Amino acid sequence: MTRKYAVRLDIDTTVCARKLIDVVELGNRLGVKFTIFANMGRSVSLSAAFLRRLSQRSVRGNPTEPMMKLSIRDKIGWKGILESILINPELHRLSADALLKARDSGHEIGLHGGLNHSLWHFAASSMDADQMHRFLTPAIEHYQNILGYNSFGFSSPGFKSSQPAYEILAGAGCAYLSDFIDCTGRVRCSPCGLPDVPVTLSAANTVDFLEWYVASGASSPLENAIEQSIGEDGFGVYYSHPCFIAGKGKQVFSQFVCALREQAEIVTMSELVL
Ligand SMILES: [Zn+2]
Repeated sequence: MTRKYAVRLDIDTTVCARKLIDVVELGNRLGVKFTIFANMGRSVSLSAAFLRRLSQRSVRGNPTEPMMKLSIRDKIGWKGILESILINPELHRLSADALLKARDSGHEIGLHGGLNHSLWHFAASSMDADQMHRFLTPAIEHYQNILGYNSFGFSSPGFKSSQPAYEILAGAGCAYLSDFIDCTGRVRCSPCGLPDVPVTLSAANTVDFLEWYVASGASSPLENAIEQSIGEDGFGVYYSHPCFIAGKGKQVFSQFVCALREQAEIVTMSELVL
């Protein structure tokens, strides 16, 4: 059995959306097809920021290990931070042209959440069916208007799943989900009947493995991480973001892809399940 590996990239921020065109060029240069999950709405939400502050406060009395990851400034820069706070544009307005170029270059494009990336992360799991319908359906329509796809993959921001969302997605042509992390790499079936494909390579707390690798100053061979993340179904999935692999992570990502090519065939996520 040929071992397969997919590279999943989530568009979360304005910088991810703007750097997508660089990512398409990088993929073409490396000869790799990516699976790009695009958020169609705004990146940040004031109410989500408030919820995040509350949740951080609730764990303050119980300090845990510091997370090894890059700061938001390292990833999107002051310009990206200011744009997100002051303008907070809908991401599809920044990424639509690059998404079409990515599609035409053979990359897979899926949908990543509803009308606001941060709000999904902090509130999607508590939304009822009507709230989720208002939050998700316009995002599906934006996605289908831009890409023209009737069948697509879906991933939830922050791996925060929602059963009402899954029912809507199943009725709207969604073909598979990617909503959990599990290095044993077994596809599971969600209650709505859609296959759910795990990310198999990640650092703790859903941090991008290569971001952790850079932030922690790790030097262990990337080949080992790849080997260990090919699971029982014979595939692996690494996930990251355009702002990292076309920014601070560009060099290590290219090394990772070279190492990956030696061990597996690099495919899109739909090729893993469909
Ligand atoms: Zn995301």
